[in-house]
Amino acid sequence: MADERLVVIGGDATGMSAASQARRLKGPDELDIVAFERGHFSSYSACGIPYWVGGDVSDRDDLIARTPEEHRARAIDLRMRTEVTEIDVAGQRVRALDRDSGETYWTDFDKLVIATGARPVRPALPGMDAAGVHGVQTLDDGQALLDSLGRAPGRRAVVVGAGYIGVEMAEALLKHGFEVTVLNRGEQPMATLDPDMGRLVHDAMDGLGITTVNRAEVTKILTGADGRVTAVATDDASYPADVVVLGIGVAPETALARAAGLPVGPHGGLLTDLSMRVVGHDTIWAGGDCVEVLDLVAGRTRHIALGTHANKHGQIIGSNVGGGYGTFPGVVGTAVSKVCDLEIARTGLREKDARAVGLRYVTATIESTGRAGYYPGAMPMTVKMLAEYRTGRLLGVQIVGREGAAKRVDIAAVALTAGMTVEQMTALDLGYAPPFSPVWDPVLVAARKAVQAVRAAGV
Ligand SMILES: Cc1cc2nc3c(=O)[nH]c(=O)nc-3n(C[C@H](O)[C@H](O)[C@H](O)COP(=O)(O)OP(=O)(O)OC[C@H]3O[C@@H](n4cnc5c(N)ncnc54)[C@H](O)[C@@H]3O)c2cc1C
Repeated sequence: MADERLVVIGGDATGMSAASQARRLKGPDELDIVAFERGHFSSYSACGIPYWVGGDVSDRDDLIARTPEEHRARAIDLRMRTEVTEIDVAGQRVRALDRDSGETYWTDFDKLVIATGARPVRPALPGMDAAGVHGVQTLDDGQALLDSLGRAPGRRAVVVGAGYIGVEMAEALLKHGFEVTVLNRGEQPMATLDPDMGRLVHDAMDGLGITTVNRAEVTKILTGADGRVTAVATDDASYPADVVVLGIGVAPETALARAAGLPVGPHGGLLTDLSMRVVGHDTIWAGGDCVEVLDLVAGRTRHIALGTHANKHGQIIGSNVGGGYGTFPGVVGTAVSKVCDLEIARTGLREKDARAVGLRYVTATIESTGRAGYYPGAMPMTVKMLAEYRTGRLLGVQIVGREGAAKRVDIAAVALTAGMTVEQMTALDLGYAPPFSPVWDPVLVAARKAVQAVRAAGV
């Protein structure tokens, strides 16, 4: 037994990245590592679920980065199907429940990592638990959905929610031959975009044969005599459904931490310092979907449930726990997704975000193509840019288009992180050849137009 014990709660992206990194830095004679995971799988990519359900990825196991056995072979004592039910902060111990045997026991820790992720929002509406209604948060959820698709009596699917998980699942169901309807509470799909850009997504989804109903408030799930879903009811209509997928969003899973008196922020996520240590607690770290992160553009904390942050947090926590050094300065809010061949990307602030933090801004929207206009396969792309009034500082970018649209947003993410103005962006030395972009890349065209808008707004 080593002198010190690290306990990790949650065996996926953040938790197992932290455990693995700590193990790289400290051997088993220096540090015991015990990790608790209440589910059936460790270190898997939930991000891949829509592509597995849709058939692009054929094997569920391809989504598993490292099995429990592989972790154990690296001297990480990963206890599956074991849920931590209590954290005793003062006593430096956690209580665990073995979900198979029903046994409960306490385990002491010197250092604790909380990586409990997020839980899907599931409104308490009649019929929500009916057969044929599915979440897609875990591999178990994905398997249950795939099993249910074969049994669905007809070919109509309703997706509730039009965020990135909703639109990705709409594509997956379309690939299974379903007639797909997306019920969206908001003004346009993809509320992470401004409505004018969301409108483009709506139109493109129409073109793909996916019906999107905006401002639709689901009131209940209707079921047949066999208890299986038959339709989804909203305020003013009913949509027949043989299968329903929920993609309504997630909230940080912090009940355990809150019960232990650990600090949570305005969005319900744990609060940490730059080293991902829980504020006010020297021996407890937290990361991934259960924490709030600093939005570097808005200057406020937000809850953003993304694997890209979760993996970085885990790596940083593991370094710090293992005696190394790492910090997480914050995010600029970059996210990409797709529905069929339509790519959707955003970074920074939307118009309403800028207004909410008191920033005055101008906008510029341009149409361009992903390749030189004359090059075969050039497809349209729309770029919207927000820049601060007077200073011209870049505030945000949204892109909707075909091939090559999504990852172009990374240019803007770097510019945002560097605090560049749109004028500085116009001089960026981006790569050009006709198969990859027009001679003026669409992001640069948008930056030029944004410069004009800043100048026109006066000083
Ligand atoms: C369908 C889908 C698609 C996605 N696509 C993308 C994408 O394209 N890009 C992207 O960046 N992100 C994507 N994400 C988000 C990404 O998967 C998450 O941000 C990431 O998994 C978060 O990692 P985490 O370790 O913080 O939490 P999780 O992955 O949720 O892991 C937390 C783990 O803790 C366990 N746990 C919780 N409480 C306890 C307890 N008390 N005791 C023991 N174990 C516990 C849970 O069972 C879970 O396994 C997607 C998510 C989903 C669901």
